Amino acid sequence: MSARRLLIFGPPGAGKGTQARRLADRLGVPQVSTGDMLRASVAADTEVGRRARAHMDAGELVPDEVVIGVTEERLEQRDAQQGFILDGFPRTVAQAEALDALLRKLNARLERCITISVGEDELVQRLLKRAHLERRSDDNEQAIRVRMAEYREKTAPLLDYYRAREVLAEVDGRGSVEEVAQRIEEAICA
Ligand code: ADP
Repeated sequence: MSARRLLIFGPPGAGKGTQARRLADRLGVPQVSTGDMLRASVAADTEVGRRARAHMDAGELVPDEVVIGVTEERLEQRDAQQGFILDGFPRTVAQAEALDALLRKLNARLERCITISVGEDELVQRLLKRAHLERRSDDNEQAIRVRMAEYREKTAPLLDYYRAREVLAEVDGRGSVEEVAQRIEEAICA
């Protein structure tokens, strides 16, 4: 089978992390989550972590050059050569362009870009609920508002970017984890 190179994106709270993990397990390729990698860097207090921390706590995007560096390093590792599920990257047009350049260098192609759509009111409800369960430092009301605005302004334009490349599949993110997973499977087989 050819390599599976997929990316999942959507607004905060859409469930992209959960779905990316499932899909990665199912396809036997690594899940590459920039959010998880950045949180690990913050916890380990590395240079990347120190540059990312305040932005993350405020709900802002971390500067492109930081995130691009982390992602490039990860995608160049051996286990990513047969494919990957990118989760939370790219989030800006500059990041999407950097990904294109990296894929060219690796002589690889993106197979599909899946976007999970959920209405904004439901997203806020989900995130506030998660705040009680997980204690993530950016799941408070102010940071959630900033994350939504960052998504609208900087990440949503990527819909057109990938639509123009004819790899975009829009999936309805309402319903159970199972139902959404089923829709994603259909979208990647189509
Ligand atoms: P969510 O999308 O639910 O907010 P993530 O775990 O994907 O959660 O991201 C958490 C935070 O990590 C973001 O708010 C941002 O500060 C940072 N981050 C993750 N990925 C990126 C990225 N590609 N570009 C810039 N910042 C990022």
